[in-house]
Amino acid sequence: MKKHNFNAGPSILPDVVLQNAAKAIIDFNGTGLSLLSISHRTKDFEDVLNEAQALFRELLDIPENYKIFFVGGGASTQFFHIPANFLKTKAGYVNTGVWSKKAIKEAKYYGEVQVVATSEDRNFTYIPKGFEIPADLDYLYICTNNTIYGSEYKTDIDSPVPLFADMSSDILSRPVDVKKYALIYGGAQKNLSPAGLTFVIIRDDMLEKVVRELPTMVNVNTHVDNNSMFNTPPVFQIYVLNETLKWIKSLGGLDAMYKINLEKAGLLYDEIDRNPLFRGTVEKEDRSLMNICFVMAEGYEDLAPEFMEFAKARGMVGIKGHRLVGGFRASCYNACPKESVEALVACMQEFEQMVKNR
Ligand SMILES: *Cc1c(COP(=O)(O)O)cnc(C)c1O
Repeated sequence: MKKHNFNAGPSILPDVVLQNAAKAIIDFNGTGLSLLSISHRTKDFEDVLNEAQALFRELLDIPENYKIFFVGGGASTQFFHIPANFLKTKAGYVNTGVWSKKAIKEAKYYGEVQVVATSEDRNFTYIPKGFEIPADLDYLYICTNNTIYGSEYKTDIDSPVPLFADMSSDILSRPVDVKKYALIYGGAQKNLSPAGLTFVIIRDDMLEKVVRELPTMVNVNTHVDNNSMFNTPPVFQIYVLNETLKWIKSLGGLDAMYKINLEKAGLLYDEIDRNPLFRGTVEKEDRSLMNICFVMAEGYEDLAPEFMEFAKARGMVGIKGHRLVGGFRASCYNACPKESVEALVACMQEFEQMVKNR
């Protein structure tokens, strides 16, 4: 049976990317050596790294006065690297769920944290808007897509202080006005590559604003100065990232990607809104294009386990909602094909008919 992969992360990668990665593991670039067994300081690998940086820059339209580097440790390592480098006195954080909460906890090791806005009052079902951003903050930190709760910023906000963003789960899903951010980062395992790789995009002026003496690996300048090669970078993940970037470019770049993502999410949200058995959990205007959360509608709550089994029997994988939200979450990342979303919609309709007929 065909599987429809809606895993939240690590998550689906394009077939062509997996095929090329499989080949490279056996024989990288016709060298007769595995990608996993070569030195990272070879021209073949440096070409991959440079191409990945260039493609990232091209696809996201990253201006020249920004650097991009790759480093291990996952997004969670940046939760403390960021305040270590830039939190001198007080930083502002917007609390939109688990991932921003975790970032707030780490920032408190380095200085004062002012939570300038939060959506915790309604279990993170919306994105706070119109909040005031004090001018005395070292930076403002947001998480643009809340993987667990399924909410997403739909605009790049204006900030009078340097704006930092965790884009782990919506990076390269849509165009972004990079100029509005001083730093953008994320883990790769949602939309780009396997786990263990983090990308960081940083505006040049920030590199001179590191606020304290730091261990070498924690200081952002180490990674910029050494072009992601201070130590051994995650070679395989960077290779896969580069293949994913080539795939996005082949589809027509971020405008095309965004259009496809709008279509896919539209299909599923329309069904959630139409089908009397289900309801969405997030305010409509803040609904994520990547992580689509829904629960059984009022009166049908008891049917949740049955729908889960029903969907599983039709090839749906990874649609169980996070335990903090319950219900269901279909992660429709870039690589999730439209056919999978259509299959899930058909499955919801079939379930509706079955319930109606008994
Ligand atoms: C998954 C995720 C993280 C954590 O990433 P790790 O690489 O596991 O540390 C952080 N932020 C967001 C928005 C995520 O979706």
